[in-house]
Amino acid sequence: MSEVVAFIGLGRMGGPMAGRLAAAGHRVVGYDVVPGLLAAAEGRGVEAAPSAVAAVTEADVVVTMLPTGRHVLGLYRDEGLLAAARPGTLFLDCSTIDVADARAAHEAVRAAGHRALDAPVSGGVVGAEAGTLTFMAGGGAEEFARAEPLLAAMGARSVHCGDAGAGQAAKICNNMILGISMIAVSEAFVLGESLGLSHQALFDVASTSSGQCWALTTNCPVPGPVPASPANHDYRPGFSAPLMAKDLRLAAEAARANGVAAELGLRAAELYAAFAGGEGAEQDFSGIVRAVRQGPAP
Ligand code: NAD
Repeated sequence: MSEVVAFIGLGRMGGPMAGRLAAAGHRVVGYDVVPGLLAAAEGRGVEAAPSAVAAVTEADVVVTMLPTGRHVLGLYRDEGLLAAARPGTLFLDCSTIDVADARAAHEAVRAAGHRALDAPVSGGVVGAEAGTLTFMAGGGAEEFARAEPLLAAMGARSVHCGDAGAGQAAKICNNMILGISMIAVSEAFVLGESLGLSHQALFDVASTSSGQCWALTTNCPVPGPVPASPANHDYRPGFSAPLMAKDLRLAAEAARANGVAAELGLRAAELYAAFAGGEGAEQDFSGIVRAVRQGPAP
């Protein structure tokens, strides 16, 4: 079934995702505050709207792909998207945001007479371009079923994780594993270096032993063993260090708020905040290996 989709936030992820919806035969009306991004989306088959409110007035579904929960709630409530949409519109938020903000967004959407689903993604810009993203969704079964054809046009897999906010919860838990494991793999390589072990030898052992993980075998933080990993391209992202720092901050805040003793998660959040705020500002998150090699600041 072809739908009218409003797509707000046409950045690195949103641009290609909106393009895939248009390519699947949906009418996609897009908006971004950056005019150049709006023009680039037109090249992907997206109609440019003059404002976010104008984009949603005829929409069946409103997709948002924005930096933070503040942006999502601001658009929904303060900028009037909820008031401008037709009753029963599905608000599908694919941004990575705080679980509490996601729940507040669900509440606001429902109170305005609409339907909500949080559906953050994993797979990065490459997955957005190729349509191979994984979506993790939170909300009602009906809303998930309604969103599934759209999710299928943008990704390869979608998992219904539970009620409001469950998609965001799954996202930050997954990325907490990833952040910690990338630091663990980096520390192991640096320890190996100091013991005279070659990167390839450690890779050959760990990738086929109990140290095996995605951070090692797909996004290997040292150049050589995995030719496609960002380490071979001067750590160009990929998944940038600032985004990992953001996700770990969300995980750390959730752990604190819920009294969970996630000691490695909290430490990983600190290490990535320091790295992303300095040398790693423009780097892939695997560049953390350089910070490990340098050791703690004097
Ligand atoms: P981005 O900064 O490239 O895109 C966000 C876009 O939102 C920008 O183009 C910005 O201009 C626009 N925007 C902000 N406020 C707006 C407003 N009021 N109205 C209209 N447009 C507005 O970021 P991105 O990399 O595309 O990431 C988007 C979301 O996806 C983030 O929550 C991020 O954490 C998540 N994410 C990113 C990746 C990745 O690899 N880039 C992977 C998974 C998840």
